[in-house]
Amino acid sequence: MSIATPPGGFDVVIVGSGISGSIIAYQLGKAGKKVLILEGGPPVPKSREAYLQTFFTANAKTPESPYPPVLQGAGSAGNPLGQPDPATLNTPRYTVLQIGAWQNPKQCYFVYGAQAAIAATDPQMTFAFGSSYERVAGGTTWHWLGTSLMHLPNDFQLKTKYGQGVDWPGGIAFYNQLLPYYRAASDVIGVSSDRDPMVDLYKTFNVQPSGVYGPNYDFPMPGIVMSLNDALYQQKVTSLKVDGIPLFVTPTPQGRNSRPGKRRQCAGNTNCIPICPIQAKYDGTVTLAEALQTGNVQIQYQTVASNIRLSGSQVSGIDYLTYDTQTGPVSGRGTAVGKRYILAAHAIETPKLLLMSNGNPGFPNGVANGSGQVGRNLMDHVMYLAWGLAKDPIYAFRGPLSTSGIEAARDGAFRSQRAAYRIEIGNEGWNWAANDPNTTLADFVFGQNNSQLNGNSVNAQGQKLRFDPNLPAFSQLYGSKLVQTLNGVYIRQLRLGYLIEQLPDPDNRVTLSTQYKDHLGLPRPQVTYRIREDYVRNAFVSAKQVSTQIFQALGATEYTMPPADAVLSGSGASSSTFRYQGQNFVFYGAGHIIGTYRMGSSAANSVLNARQQSWDHENLYMVGSGVFPTTATANPTLTIAALALQAADNVLKDLG
Ligand SMILES: Cc1cc2nc3c(=O)[nH]c(=O)nc-3n(C[C@H](O)[C@H](O)[C@H](O)COP(=O)(O)OP(=O)(O)OC[C@H]3O[C@@H](n4cnc5c(N)ncnc54)[C@H](O)[C@@H]3O)c2cc1C
Ligand code: SF4
Repeated sequence: MSIATPPGGFDVVIVGSGISGSIIAYQLGKAGKKVLILEGGPPVPKSREAYLQTFFTANAKTPESPYPPVLQGAGSAGNPLGQPDPATLNTPRYTVLQIGAWQNPKQCYFVYGAQAAIAATDPQMTFAFGSSYERVAGGTTWHWLGTSLMHLPNDFQLKTKYGQGVDWPGGIAFYNQLLPYYRAASDVIGVSSDRDPMVDLYKTFNVQPSGVYGPNYDFPMPGIVMSLNDALYQQKVTSLKVDGIPLFVTPTPQGRNSRPGKRRQCAGNTNCIPICPIQAKYDGTVTLAEALQTGNVQIQYQTVASNIRLSGSQVSGIDYLTYDTQTGPVSGRGTAVGKRYILAAHAIETPKLLLMSNGNPGFPNGVANGSGQVGRNLMDHVMYLAWGLAKDPIYAFRGPLSTSGIEAARDGAFRSQRAAYRIEIGNEGWNWAANDPNTTLADFVFGQNNSQLNGNSVNAQGQKLRFDPNLPAFSQLYGSKLVQTLNGVYIRQLRLGYLIEQLPDPDNRVTLSTQYKDHLGLPRPQVTYRIREDYVRNAFVSAKQVSTQIFQALGATEYTMPPADAVLSGSGASSSTFRYQGQNFVFYGAGHIIGTYRMGSSAANSVLNARQQSWDHENLYMVGSGVFPTTATANPTLTIAALALQAADNVLKDLG
């Protein structure tokens, strides 16, 4: 394969065509710059029907199930899900299914050290990282939910204000500079939100809304209608406080169309993760298409960046490998050359590429790694889930997966002691929490009690959990009684998810496996991940208490099931269970991979300066949530988009 180089060469080479790479490509293309995107995954299919068909036939409906490389083959003993060996794939990625096989590198792309046989209370306990990503054109927003919130001002000065973590470079000044880019990012994504609830929200954090939005800004589309589920919370939670802060419900700004526009209007069928069948939800392919339409942007698919070349301290090219089929041999190789280079391969593959590029004289630890920070400070929003059954129907399993949240605990004086969190209100019943509708269906067909609805279970408040007290425990139902019972359950299911902020920990990191490679011969990510600060663990204790209070206020019955004791070693070692203050907790990944090439105020403690430019190599920039110094509590992609727009301006300035 050869790349058609324009006269005068490329101004910019970008690695990755997710939302961050596509936004920069579009901005530069509009400004007349010649841009080449190297995209490791396959092209955007002409119709999303192909991905839908893969999803329909997948045994397990996970965020990744519609997308290549296909996850599941025939099962066997020791590999019941039939997961392919990542060594046989050209662009393997980490998936939710792999978490269960985290100690087995023949089924899991990430390589982990063995779980040490230490107490489950020991903060040194290691876990499987909880979040996944895609390696296809358009990137991970193919399966994002669409939640599009800004970070709060204090999120940028966590160290100064609360003595925790680090500040973003410049602290509050950085936030102020980002505000116009936040507004532009909401326009790019086409966020649906009403302005008034956001103004009310900002007032509770003592932030002047006029400063956030400016006098004239409004969102591109009106807000998505709140669900009946949201309305129940809205009525009932105002009687509650967390750490003295009153709770209230705020409709969530979302990257999906509330009315017909360039894309279709949301039809509310709760399929946003893993795929919106009608593209009512924004994804990176929207901006990628706009970038390509400028006529100045070229993309090379199935082209994996494998090494960054330096000439002195300047990047002089990016080596790549191509393939024709996912399991086939390398079909070509070359070097892409531009004036400026931007890495947008997300927060696992970007540090991997930097670390792999360790053959340049004077840079033996990899590119941009003078600080030794590349790959470090891997973070997520670690999630606590709680679930319950409402007294009256709230008609779960309708609407987008979440339409509102409880945002009050995202900032406050408590942050000197424990992590902040936002509470996402789920519309998808117990789908995420307990794999419903499957679990409850199987319970009432086979006489089981995995859902706790069909047995003698009692919750921590002493409430009996059998759904219908007139039915015997372990009932096996059929016909109309089965239908009636299931319908009675599903329409009452409630789920809360707490997005807990995590602090940067330099030992939580991505390095290169010295033993395991992918099919292109590139080393696979070796991951070490812990949740060892009491700051974060305290938030789990708080989340658990608050959930119980919320369900009580709703008049609902809580069904949250605490996990069994962790298995501490061996191939079946627990991936995500720990014990704290006498209670077992399980955490879930939010899909938010953060921090592995962070910005900072000095070349000694960070990879990038506040312009998202490498301290070590003046013509190299990086975008995506890998640049975040801390996680804060907003889902990251609106901030990613704002930062990408800001970086595009910086690159344009530097190109002259
Ligand atoms: C289940 C789930 C739900 C989510 N929901 C939300 C939400 O509601 N709100 C929110 O804010 N965020 C959400 N997120 C997070 C969001 O999806 C990501 O933050 C966002 O997609 C990251 O965009 P990106 O462009 O930085 O990276 P990506 O979209 O991952 O793009 C990276 C690109 O780089 C390519 N690439 C990788 N390696 C190479 C290489 N070596 N050479 C060439 N190309 C390469 C990949 O193929 C890919 O196209 C969710 C994530 C998940 C998993
Ligand atoms: S609810 Fe349905 S139509 Fe709306 S964004 Fe989600 S998947 Fe698309």
